[in-house]
Amino acid sequence: MKELRALSRLIDSFLKLPSVGKKSAERMALAVLEMDEEDIQEFVYALTNIKNKIQKCEVCGLYSEEQKCEICQDQERDKKSIIVVSSFKDVYAFEKLKSYNGLYHVLGGALNATRGIGVNELNIESLLNRVHLDKIEEIILATNSTIEGETTALYIAKLLEKENINTTRLAYGLPMGGYVDYADSLTLKKALEGRRKI
Ligand SMILES: [Zn+2]
Repeated sequence: MKELRALSRLIDSFLKLPSVGKKSAERMALAVLEMDEEDIQEFVYALTNIKNKIQKCEVCGLYSEEQKCEICQDQERDKKSIIVVSSFKDVYAFEKLKSYNGLYHVLGGALNATRGIGVNELNIESLLNRVHLDKIEEIILATNSTIEGETTALYIAKLLEKENINTTRLAYGLPMGGYVDYADSLTLKKALEGRRKI
């Protein structure tokens, strides 16, 4: 049987999503084929608009519908403390704990020489600017417990050495090689509470 090109193209698009294998991609593409026109239009609209409607917060780098995210705008938050994370997903993991009331900073990755991610590819300079301008008192380095995450934490800690702030690192209830956004809430809460000076 001849390949249906439009279908293969849609399957290839689904394959770009995380945790989607060939079988799931095929099932999803066939499901789209059976959708009615209205649902497909809604799908297309949602896809094409996501990049227009959502931007990165100009302060912390978290995704937001406004220039400044909800957390940065919240007057009830402790503006002296910043948790530094690799990915926006880690922010959601901390927010779920409901035990931290400070701010965040999203680096957008971790240092990784083999993948060509250097200091300039991460939002490190904007973090230093915040430290200077906003009189931050504590920086909690919450990058993943992987070689890249550790390297990044140490690099930032070194940069902050001469600043008069308390720089801490999550405690290791987090297993080596562990990702912040996969940690269960109790482990993450303990790691945050037990943070120590770096
Ligand atoms: Zn923000």
